[in-house]
Amino acid sequence: MNDADQDSFAAMRDAVQRFHDKHDFKNRGGEELAYRVALMAEELGEISACITKGKPREALAEECADLLILLIGTAISADFPLERAFWDKMDALMKRSARMVGGRIRVSEFRDS
Ligand SMILES: [Mg+2]
Repeated sequence: MNDADQDSFAAMRDAVQRFHDKHDFKNRGGEELAYRVALMAEELGEISACITKGKPREALAEECADLLILLIGTAISADFPLERAFWDKMDALMKRSARMVGGRIRVSEFRDS
């Protein structure tokens, strides 16, 4: 696979679909959403540990890849187009305002004020 293909979301989704198919996730509980949420929480904890334990950037990259693979697989499991959801949400985020909250930038709808 060349670099251009690897940059395409479709190629990433297809690779994750092949991974699901290889292990028959659909028929073996691997696409149950509650289980997938638990797996994503586990990976988020591993990302957190990279920061709190000062692990090297390569470890952080690997854990972020784990979470991305799970996210792509969750979109496959729940049957929604993640790439479309990504662009719809990016469009919405780009229209939102930002505030400093506790010394850090926060982009939100700020409905409560
Ligand atoms: Mg991991």
